[in-house]
Amino acid sequence: MDRKNVVICGAGIAGISAAYNLAVQHGLKDILLIDERPPLSLTSDKSTECYRNWWPGPGDAMVSLMNRSIDLIEDLAHTTGNEFHLNRRGYLYLTGNPEKIPSMLANAEETSRLGAGPLRIFRGDSSDSQYIPPEPHGFTGSPDGADLILDRNLLRRHYPYITEKAIAGLHIRRAGWFSAQQLGSLLLAQAKTHGVQLLEERVNGVDLEHGRVRAVHLEGGERIQTHHFVNAAGPFLSQISETLDVQLPVYCELHFKVSTADHLKIIPREAPLLIWNDAQKLPWSKEESAFLAEDQDTRWLLEEFPPGVHTRPEGLEDSPIILMLWEYHTLEVDPVLPPPLDSDYPDIALRGLATMIPELKHYFDKPPRPLMDGGYYTKTKENRPLIGPLPVEGTWVLGALSGYGLMASLAAGELLALHLLGTDHPSYAAAFELKRYQDPAYLDLLSNWEDSGQL
Ligand SMILES: Cc1cc2nc3c(=O)[nH]c(=O)nc-3n(C[C@H](O)[C@H](O)[C@H](O)COP(=O)(O)OP(=O)(O)OC[C@H]3O[C@@H](n4cnc5c(N)ncnc54)[C@H](O)[C@@H]3O)c2cc1C
Repeated sequence: MDRKNVVICGAGIAGISAAYNLAVQHGLKDILLIDERPPLSLTSDKSTECYRNWWPGPGDAMVSLMNRSIDLIEDLAHTTGNEFHLNRRGYLYLTGNPEKIPSMLANAEETSRLGAGPLRIFRGDSSDSQYIPPEPHGFTGSPDGADLILDRNLLRRHYPYITEKAIAGLHIRRAGWFSAQQLGSLLLAQAKTHGVQLLEERVNGVDLEHGRVRAVHLEGGERIQTHHFVNAAGPFLSQISETLDVQLPVYCELHFKVSTADHLKIIPREAPLLIWNDAQKLPWSKEESAFLAEDQDTRWLLEEFPPGVHTRPEGLEDSPIILMLWEYHTLEVDPVLPPPLDSDYPDIALRGLATMIPELKHYFDKPPRPLMDGGYYTKTKENRPLIGPLPVEGTWVLGALSGYGLMASLAAGELLALHLLGTDHPSYAAAFELKRYQDPAYLDLLSNWEDSGQL
């Protein structure tokens, strides 16, 4: 039987970051990363590749985890000449609803207090500071925190392609996007240079001896002896934990993404991530509305859709590609591969985006060909990850990274490594351990959890 110090199941961004942190940052030897698929090919290549440090409470755990992760991502960008194209254009949340402004302000003040950086407010009067528009490339020299823009003229000056109905925007500044495949490949390459081995195989289960892990067995019949097993199986986190007789409080949601060509150049290539934060009815013509109303299978298209449709330009200056996303149906499902796609999604996302960017209506009659994919958010109820020990000695979990696994990857892998090595943990560690669910005060908090921060 082969013997390894640590066996990690899953070579998505979570497993790769754990291997990178253990091998490169801590010099641990004999680490085996096992995946039945090519690395980064299940969920980690479906992402929108965005990041932000702006996360709700309660407490500062999510903001601290993300700040730490972004610090580490920035360090890596510095040392590699920004090989993975990290930018800092921000997220711009927009509303046309005046009733939303008080809660927008209160939430922004709260997140700022949690450590996400200063909040600057732009009211269009002489006391306003200077709004600094986003730099399209690079990640240095941009402000921290967020800008709450309540001055419509300022919004129109900088974002003339946004609907005139927009009356306020919250521009999150420690945010943007990067190439997730390049970041993941970089981490994997460095891990391999430090001795991490990658094996393409399926993990079937774990052998225990005296209540602790003894070996991992593979579909091909092989057994690998080890004292440390990390479950980083993404959407199959529960399946792997069940082989240890451990139930995890996680579930999967199916999420889609569309990329398409904006050949009319309606969305400027230097735009930030743009999010319409109001519920809306889709902009159908009178004839279309009448037609859709006739059939009970299409009538739902006339109802109100939730907030959150978003878009961003993808690729270099000369690329026409934009990404479009909108979770108008939250589908809680068992993960099935390949994920079943929703053929209505591209058209609905385009129409939803046209409420925010009216010129997109030029595509209604002749929509550009959409390229659609989808993947699973693996989540806990409160949308916080699971990072730390499992009840079986020598077993660890790194997952439930929901819709933020790329941005959280560096700090999440670091935290897993600190747990496994038994060294000092950062202040946010306890917020992500499985044993938090044994605390009655936490369960109490869970029953009144308000904002999951999910986009
Ligand atoms: C549409 C969409 C948009 C997103 N946008 C963003 C975004 O903008 N920013 C962001 O940070 N995050 C985003 N995410 C979330 C992010 O993609 C995930 O959180 C992240 O990829 C999860 O990584 P993971 O390593 O936990 O899982 P995965 O990438 O799924 O990796 C798990 C691996 O485990 C392997 N595995 C499972 N079971 C076994 C077994 N028995 N044996 C061997 N191998 C096994 C699988 O083959 C897989 O490779 C998005 C996700 C989706 C779907």
